[in-house]
Amino acid sequence: MDVLVIGSGIAGLSAALRADASARVLVVTKGELADGATRLAQGGIAGAVGPGDTPAAHAADTLAAGAGLAEPEAVRVLCEEGPERIAELIALGVAFDRTDGPGSPHALGLEGAHGRPRILHAGGDATGLAIETALVAAVRARGIPVREQAALVDLVVEDGAVRGARFLAADGRELTVRAGAVVLATGGAGQLYAHTTNPAVATGDGMAAARRAGARLADLEFCQFHPTALAAGSGAGSFLVSEAVRGEGALLRDAHGDRFMPRIDPRAELAPRDVVARAIVQVMQAQGGRPVLLDATAIGPAGIDADERARLLARRFPTIDAAVRAAGFDWAREGVPVTPAAHYMMGGILTDLDGRTTVPGLFAAGECARTGVHGANRLASNSLLEGTVFGARAADAALAEARTAAVAAGFLAAAERPQLAEATAPDHRSTARPGTAAAGTDQGASASRDWTRAQLQELMWRQVGLLRTGAELEEAARILATWAPPAPTTLAALEDRNLLHLARCVVEAALARPGSVGAHHRRDAADDPVPAHPQDAPKREAASAAAREPDPSFPRGDELVDLPPLPSPRPLQPTR
Ligand SMILES: Cc1cc2nc3c(=O)[nH]c(=O)nc-3n(C[C@H](O)[C@H](O)[C@H](O)COP(=O)(O)OP(=O)(O)OC[C@H]3O[C@@H](n4cnc5c(N)ncnc54)[C@H](O)[C@@H]3O)c2cc1C
Repeated sequence: MDVLVIGSGIAGLSAALRADASARVLVVTKGELADGATRLAQGGIAGAVGPGDTPAAHAADTLAAGAGLAEPEAVRVLCEEGPERIAELIALGVAFDRTDGPGSPHALGLEGAHGRPRILHAGGDATGLAIETALVAAVRARGIPVREQAALVDLVVEDGAVRGARFLAADGRELTVRAGAVVLATGGAGQLYAHTTNPAVATGDGMAAARRAGARLADLEFCQFHPTALAAGSGAGSFLVSEAVRGEGALLRDAHGDRFMPRIDPRAELAPRDVVARAIVQVMQAQGGRPVLLDATAIGPAGIDADERARLLARRFPTIDAAVRAAGFDWAREGVPVTPAAHYMMGGILTDLDGRTTVPGLFAAGECARTGVHGANRLASNSLLEGTVFGARAADAALAEARTAAVAAGFLAAAERPQLAEATAPDHRSTARPGTAAAGTDQGASASRDWTRAQLQELMWRQVGLLRTGAELEEAARILATWAPPAPTTLAALEDRNLLHLARCVVEAALARPGSVGAHHRRDAADDPVPAHPQDAPKREAASAAAREPDPSFPRGDELVDLPPLPSPRPLQPTR
């Protein structure tokens, strides 16, 4: 009856809170409990909660954005169960913004490809932070055991079923946690790309580990590039300027100050993300690579002056306002340079509607999962919703699995590997390439490794990005095949190994889909008519088959660090 949840964003913590009601649960997470994409979410969470809105209308918009590849049944579940999960978030203390103070209706925002305003937001543009804070507080209040600073290395597979996982802790110890069922909620993989809105932890660890354990991945050719990341300022990642800004009336202009979206799509700036992102890239190419401008001076009631607009923007979008001004732009008076950046993985670990993967004992939820709700293009603000809806469902199914699973060695066991501790560089967060002086103790394990994470990210950005061709994909596949994964003996090395494995899967999946659809846009191919029929599952299965077949290039075991026999079970010390 015991469930191990890996990852602590909205999907993982929703699953943990649900499962904790009737089982022993442990949450293990790579960084601090609140790290991840969830707390960065700005625009909000979509839900048919407003007057006159219906789950059917929300589902219709979701299916349309998915370009014919979203699964209608998964979308129905998302949109019908969403309002109940949102009510639970409110009960946990998430204070979604209201139109006119306490007791008034929730203020609903509009985002691209939604037929009506249905985006709940909190703190203006700090929705994810409000949700993550409430979930973390609930987990702490319930006393659910949490182990921070421990990164999933690989899943423990016994007799064809997942019965736990191995982790690398910050102090270099390796831990093994055994459980009746494992829920992966490790988030996305934006770090595959040189430019991404994603946090540093988004290295696709759960997807790659699931694949090594034999689980099927699907739809990896569909990576969503957000149209408007700030193209200025310094910082590790690309700062996102939420689509909600365009929802409030901001316009996109080229270097001459001309709007270009109305020429491309009747929905103009609020067309689906893939359409807007591609349009921006084409305009950027035509103007020598210079970013386009996001013009927020159109926001606000007619006749409003710039000072009033500045106050309005600061009130409605406090986080974005601070970032834009820190980058030196007065967006109440001038356009802000923006460019697309990798944002969200539509594909991931193939699951059914209850988070079951193709391997018994293993469940997945949130961005690491491919539930079928997004198809070829995610509808804005549907991913927080997916995390809470399918996190809860995966927890229910994992509980049922754990009840029947006989876990020989008991619930939790920790195995220390002194050899590994000695061989591990002291700086757990170091991203220095193993083999360099900064991580010199890894030299032996990675002597054959002659590539860097930055090279992989540049390759993916250039050749497996927003616009692709068959020739570019073939070349990327050839280069990736020549790179060897490092042994997962440090955090940086285990992440690099996962990024390499996943990059190969993404390229394979992209090569397997010769036509253009949604976020997968091939410059050398016309739009694919096949995906127009979502019920045509066999063809889709074939198209994604490459991402699901066993991959001979995947090291299975020989490059993994073997664990010594487990000592007597003893509980991990929860970090409260
Ligand atoms: C800047 C930004 C803005 C966004 N805005 C919105 C929005 O307005 N609305 C919306 O719906 N969506 C938005 N999204 C997308 C949305 O935030 C994410 O898709 C969603 O939060 C994913 O939730 P998750 O629980 O699956 O993953 P995450 O919240 O990313 O959590 C993943 C967890 O897994 C842990 N983890 C990762 N690897 C390991 C490992 N090896 N071992 C152990 N733990 C691991 C991480 O530390 C983290 O705790 C936005 C995303 C970004 C980046």
